[in-house]
Amino acid sequence: MRVLVCGGAGYIGSHMVRELIRAGHTPVVFDNLSTGHHWALEAAFKGAAEKGLEPELITGDILNLGDVDDLFEKRPIDAVMHFSARSLVSESVLRPDLYYHGILVGSLNLLAAANQARVDKIIFSSTAAVYGTPEEMPIEESCPTQPITPYGQATKMVEMILEDYAQAHGLKSVALRYFNAAGADPGGDLGEEHQPETHLIPNVLKAILGQTPPLEIFGNDYPTPDGTPIRDYVFVGDVARAHLLALDFLDRQPRPGFSAFNIGSGRGFSVMEVMAAAERVTGQWVPYKFAHRRPGDPPVLVASAEKAKKELGWDPEVTSLDEIIRSAWNWFRQRAESPA
Ligand code: UDP
Repeated sequence: MRVLVCGGAGYIGSHMVRELIRAGHTPVVFDNLSTGHHWALEAAFKGAAEKGLEPELITGDILNLGDVDDLFEKRPIDAVMHFSARSLVSESVLRPDLYYHGILVGSLNLLAAANQARVDKIIFSSTAAVYGTPEEMPIEESCPTQPITPYGQATKMVEMILEDYAQAHGLKSVALRYFNAAGADPGGDLGEEHQPETHLIPNVLKAILGQTPPLEIFGNDYPTPDGTPIRDYVFVGDVARAHLLALDFLDRQPRPGFSAFNIGSGRGFSVMEVMAAAERVTGQWVPYKFAHRRPGDPPVLVASAEKAKKELGWDPEVTSLDEIIRSAWNWFRQRAESPA
């Protein structure tokens, strides 16, 4: 299958590209390289030629309808994976303009062009942020979606648009609501690199490596056992694999429709527990200090992934937090020794 991977040079996108090639699909990557990396794609494309696959990178902007139309006009595409969007909860609170514009206009452009080209399968990167501050844990897909941040709101709107496209245009779509994607490919040549880095596990490891000042823990007065927020960390390779299963799922659907699935491990860890795991894995102390809460952070987000298990056949393969952190540690140490 030829799969358009919008945002394929980013963290999760590049792991996806590698997974597609492993499965014998041809990734067509569309990325403006504003936050994604050329080196990540070079790594992700490795092994394609041996399989007779010819992946491509098309540099363009999803916010420019001309670029997106061009993409579909010039080559056949069988399915779309949409990773192209900003995804930082607290940044979205400060810059709603960037988030509503980027997420909504980008998705509408992509849907218009895909519809024009009669591509009827889309997998959308959604988020646990669509749930806001849920009452029940673990969170099931049937829980109300009441986002509390522009990132969550805009992403929920895209889910609603996808649902309407099923009715109006015969689209088959899946939204994968990621919890906290983490870790790095065991090959050691693909991993997370954001500028600036805001995510917990990279920041913990960078603090250990002395690449950053001590870790700031954003709030220790949450209603959780140790006062720090609890999140569900899920291995990035397992997140990518969920998309392959979602592709199969869409192929099996006899009719247009929209489905949402949680992609999480089902277990939650506080910030302090993540730090303790990083200390176990690395054998080093994490230098840290307490700081104010970050805007938009709910106290607890833990997935029920039962629906993904039942309907997609998805089960995370890397289930231990220590193993997830070990994979990230290998990546960051390797990166410290040989930056791109
Ligand atoms: N966090 C923190 N210090 C950091 C980065 C994150 O205390 O340098 C906390 C953050 O407040 C949240 C959790 O770690 O409770 C996970 O944050 P991350 O940014 O990794 O993911 P998010 O849940 O925001 O998508």
